[in-house]
Amino acid sequence: MARKWLKQEKRTKEQLFDALVKNALGFVETSLDHVKERPKNSIVDLYTAIELFLKARLMAEHWTLMLSKPETAELQNLYVGDFLSVYLDDALKRINSILGEKIDLAASDNFKALGEHRNQIVHFAHSGHDDLAATQAGVIVEQWASWHYLYAMLTDTWKEVFEPYKIELQKLNHRMMRQRDFLSSRFTILKPKIEIELKRGKTIIACEHCELKSAVVNKVHPWGTDYSCLVCGVSDTAVVKADIKLPCPGCNEDVEFFDAKFTECPTCHFAFNTDALIDLCTAHIHEGDQWWEGGAEHIASCHECECPRPSVFYIDGLWSCVSCFDRGWQAVACERCGEFVTGDMERIKYFACHKCEDQVRQGIEAMVAAGAATEESQDAKEQP
Ligand SMILES: [Zn+2]
Ligand SMILES: [Zn+2]
Ligand SMILES: [Zn+2]
Ligand SMILES: [Zn+2]
Repeated sequence: MARKWLKQEKRTKEQLFDALVKNALGFVETSLDHVKERPKNSIVDLYTAIELFLKARLMAEHWTLMLSKPETAELQNLYVGDFLSVYLDDALKRINSILGEKIDLAASDNFKALGEHRNQIVHFAHSGHDDLAATQAGVIVEQWASWHYLYAMLTDTWKEVFEPYKIELQKLNHRMMRQRDFLSSRFTILKPKIEIELKRGKTIIACEHCELKSAVVNKVHPWGTDYSCLVCGVSDTAVVKADIKLPCPGCNEDVEFFDAKFTECPTCHFAFNTDALIDLCTAHIHEGDQWWEGGAEHIASCHECECPRPSVFYIDGLWSCVSCFDRGWQAVACERCGEFVTGDMERIKYFACHKCEDQVRQGIEAMVAAGAATEESQDAKEQP
């Protein structure tokens, strides 16, 4: 390989780690710089930063872990910068399986969604008719969400690893938070439009993404309210709140735990991650809905977030997932695989549930292939 002959400085592992992190910090910086002029580049840069930070985390454990194929690792190549490194999906898997660290499902889902958006931007041409201000607002909200998870990992979960970069991270966090001014000024500009919607008889609620009172209600369901936000352009469903309190395992005080932002007990600071919430509900909730028969399974697997542990409990009149906090789906035992799952009832009945879907699809493909083969042999026989 010619590249190996390039004159490159040999770098020690520590230097390489430092270079990776500085590179990542630089991409967060440019992500912020780009919001005004080229908002879409902000998404691409922030995604690159996330990948670099995850690589750095893996590298801190062992340098081979950041390579796409650790089994072919050669330290020499690393020193001269000649290697293929791991991508987001694999990095997340390795952090979980090799480091034994659980990345919050909401965080990994967010990073993957950002990755999909990044791919759309990189691979598909855009019409160029986008409203720049609206795009900016949407990008800021997306940046915020991803940064929220990333910053928590870097300064809390992996505090020791990234300690030397604490000040830089804090500075970036401040810059990120200052973007709020942009959204507020956009809100002021859009105020007349919001007034018009109100006069038309529309209901305006607080947007869950930009947190401004600029979301126009489209449809109200028993499980939540569909809205489109005028400021940040996000359309989503505000899921109806679950009125439930359960005693904290740490201090026995009742806590309102059904909230994606709830991470610790306000009294004793007991940490509530997904596992802790599932444990809490398992200990206190023992029944399903009106169709549920005593003795049957009462904790369903969630088709929305596909949390590995069953995470959907019957809370305050609706099936409610304590992993992704979605509510209002129905839950049934799948007739094909027997798993107790949430999902679209028609789909489960006539096709499959999220647990057995791959298997059913493979079965259908095999059947189609076999059918095609018989047809072919029939054709062969019919030929004179
Ligand atoms: Zn909004
Ligand atoms: Zn507590
Ligand atoms: Zn879920
Ligand atoms: Zn099934």
